Amino acid sequence: MTELLYQTDSYLKEFPAAVTRVDAETRAVLLDRSAFYPGGGGQPCDFGTLEVNGVVYPVEKVKKQGSDVLHFLGGNEPLPAPGSAAHGTLDWVRRYQLMRTHSALHILCGTVFRDYGAKVTGGDMEPLKGRMDFEFETMRGELVREIETAVNFEVQQRREIRVRILPREEAFQIPDLIRTKINLLPEGILQVRTVEIVGLDLQADGGTHVSNTSEVGKIKVVDYKSKGAINKRIYIEVE
Ligand SMILES: [Zn+2]
Repeated sequence: MTELLYQTDSYLKEFPAAVTRVDAETRAVLLDRSAFYPGGGGQPCDFGTLEVNGVVYPVEKVKKQGSDVLHFLGGNEPLPAPGSAAHGTLDWVRRYQLMRTHSALHILCGTVFRDYGAKVTGGDMEPLKGRMDFEFETMRGELVREIETAVNFEVQQRREIRVRILPREEAFQIPDLIRTKINLLPEGILQVRTVEIVGLDLQADGGTHVSNTSEVGKIKVVDYKSKGAINKRIYIEVE
């Protein structure tokens, strides 16, 4: 089981860890703790490096498997032995762009729900670009500028973004958590991590976020697409 350092500190850029297991065939390395985000909830995985005994391995892909985080190492240096001390370093430029993009999408989600009552059904992102799907029957071209103004207003409000980890029963008492359909939680999950943009949005979410909306910077609503009478897709970019 890997301790997920990114869940409680999204600003952790490097960390010491111990190698717990190695799969030679896939060049996957398990660590006892990791700040690498393994991907999920529309946010792609982190990249970076892992240094063990003076060898710097590129981390080319990170994936969650059960409660473990697998770090796939590039290069052709022999793999480290289990028990070795390691030092992980994130590609921080990419990760911070993803944090800003992910938080921008939650600002969009909270704003569109507040102003139009539209619920989110899905989303996806890459660094500085993202899209969200809404049940938003009344969406039309003229609303693009209105939405853009409203989301940038929320950036300027410098709203705090808070992460909490709650027991499942407690999380289910929070009515706001029920509104995002993508976040229906499987049985057996005993703890729920919540991401709250104070005064705007609250979701069950596993991703990494900035701690204040002001860090997101300017958001552009670049396009929207009709995916049917009800389903609309809104595209954003972060500068
Ligand atoms: Zn999210």
